[in-house]
Amino acid sequence: MSQSNTYRVVVIGGGVAGSAAALSLLSQGVSDVLVIEASQYEQVRIGESVPPDIRLLLLKLGVWETFLSEGHEPCLGSCSLWGDDRPGYNDFLFNPHGHGWHLNRQRFDAFLAESVKARDIKIESGIRFQKCEEFEDGVHLWVKNRQEETIKLSAHFVIDATGQSANLAKGLGAKKQLLDQLVCMIGFFELSECGDFTQQTLLEAVEDGWWYVAKLPNRRVVAAFATDREVIKQTTILEKEAWLNYLKKTTYIGEQLTECSFIEDSLIVRQAPSFLLDRSVGKRWLAVGDAASTFDPISSQGIYKALADGIEAGAAISNYLSGNKNNLDGYDSFIKDRFQDYLNNRNYFYSTENRWPESRFWKNRRSRGFLT
Ligand SMILES: Cc1cc2nc3c(=O)[nH]c(=O)nc-3n(C[C@H](O)[C@H](O)[C@H](O)COP(=O)(O)OP(=O)(O)OC[C@H]3O[C@@H](n4cnc5c(N)ncnc54)[C@H](O)[C@@H]3O)c2cc1C
Repeated sequence: MSQSNTYRVVVIGGGVAGSAAALSLLSQGVSDVLVIEASQYEQVRIGESVPPDIRLLLLKLGVWETFLSEGHEPCLGSCSLWGDDRPGYNDFLFNPHGHGWHLNRQRFDAFLAESVKARDIKIESGIRFQKCEEFEDGVHLWVKNRQEETIKLSAHFVIDATGQSANLAKGLGAKKQLLDQLVCMIGFFELSECGDFTQQTLLEAVEDGWWYVAKLPNRRVVAAFATDREVIKQTTILEKEAWLNYLKKTTYIGEQLTECSFIEDSLIVRQAPSFLLDRSVGKRWLAVGDAASTFDPISSQGIYKALADGIEAGAAISNYLSGNKNNLDGYDSFIKDRFQDYLNNRNYFYSTENRWPESRFWKNRRSRGFLT
């Protein structure tokens, strides 16, 4: 960090949205940017399916060619049992942008951070944001380093890219408007050496939720079960054996995993809420990616959204810093309009599954189709 500890822009969170915002600021000619990231990119990161048009965003950020050499797994489309006992297919064959991808997510986030660093933007990992306070010309930030020492920083503008915790935005008074609170249990498998696995994303609705399976790079396969907190409380599904048994009982997905062995201790639980901040901008801050809004993982849009927000944010902040204050309202509308589109699509999608009229999970999805 610089001697004075004052920056033009500080980005809090070096995930997809934070790195995209830093790259976008650079392309808009905004210098003196610092990205702080709590982790060292050492832990498993969840969320890996991205659509073909991710290419347009990675091209815009100037990282497409390097992305291609990173060894991610092509995704050719999806096969789903949803609203019907027979599989339905949606493939990318005729998509003008080619196929989608199943990412090695940890690698992808680290790659974006390396791209930030390679362009001489300062990115400091192992630094955790703690609290903030607005002042006339900017925002003071208190962060903790790896030695647990507190450091004070100041910035003329701050980006909240802390993911679903939205730490900075909440600290500055923004409120989450909640739509849904799914919980996902995710496990990893290893594909046997001569085993083959489809390059489609597999999706299957069941009575208490839905399953998702995808082949990842390095012969890994991920399986995730999305459900309600009540289901978790009333069953033993958090235990590995129960989770594996439930997976086996599915109509289609379970039998696709016969050539895969479960990786011991790989089962993890993640909250997957859908929410929208009541405001994604303040006087000298804005929120990007999951800090501004989160989508149901069924949409496979979270990573795309994080990149798109980062790009928009870079343009809005550059304009703001050159004196056009209205641009931040435009950014806020961009986030809200897109959430409304997502809400319409999400509600329609869940309304097409009617095979379990008495299931609490499906009733919940239908009754919780609005923000609270
Ligand atoms: C179970 C599940 C499955 C999903 N599947 C998909 C999928 O298939 N496809 C898809 O597109 N999306 C998927 N998503 C959504 C996707 O993962 C997110 O939308 C995406 O990660 C958002 O990126 P982000 O950069 O906004 O936030 P994050 O990825 O959460 O990054 C936030 C960053 O901020 C850092 N940070 C947090 N707090 C602090 C702090 N106090 N100080 C400093 N740094 C901090 C974190 O370490 C992290 O690096 C899924 C989500 C879940 C929960």
